[in-house]
Amino acid sequence: MIQKGLLVVLSGPSGAGKGTVCKAMLPAMPEMGYSISCTTRQPRQGEVEGVNYFFKTREQFEQMIRNDELLEWAEVYGNYYGTPLRYVEEQLSEGRNVLLEIDIQGALQVKKKYPNGVFIFLIPPSLEELKKRILGRGSETEESFKLRFGSAAEEMNYINEYDYVVVNDKVEQAVDRIRSIIYAELCSVKRN
Ligand code: 5GP
Repeated sequence: MIQKGLLVVLSGPSGAGKGTVCKAMLPAMPEMGYSISCTTRQPRQGEVEGVNYFFKTREQFEQMIRNDELLEWAEVYGNYYGTPLRYVEEQLSEGRNVLLEIDIQGALQVKKKYPNGVFIFLIPPSLEELKKRILGRGSETEESFKLRFGSAAEEMNYINEYDYVVVNDKVEQAVDRIRSIIYAELCSVKRN
């Protein structure tokens, strides 16, 4: 795989605020492309096809897996999520940078294929805060809350697989830190 651009993977437990951080960070970073994932979950209110996700049926998603169209994929809380391979490969081979916002299972798969990527682990300030955030979303049933909260606590153990850890206490501060990491990596002598 030709990799001229920088691949940045932002990952971490559900409820850490990955989506919020990306939304706040990307408009001010024209040098960073964003990979839109495919998912089989239902769109949440306000989500737009081709902006937040490409929404697929399970059959369509399974066909994409069979066709090797995904760089990585995972089943998260009963739904499939995956990164379309072509966009990432094209961007990186043309020297453009790409950000992936994906779960931990996916990040581990990407690390095998792109060991030169930059892997950032975003964590909530505490489990108590994590609980509030998952519940605050208002879209969880009791069962899906238990599932998300339980696995998020367990997922904290994967911290050592990553290059950087950022605590998402205040969104602006987390954004500043992630931007600093990305700019430092873009200036890195080792990488270039
Ligand atoms: P949500 O349903 O809240 O949008 O996302 C649920 C989880 O799936 C989050 O942890 C999110 O980072 C993850 N996710 C989103 N897109 C992808 C993807 O393409 N691949 C993987 N492995 N996880 C993803």
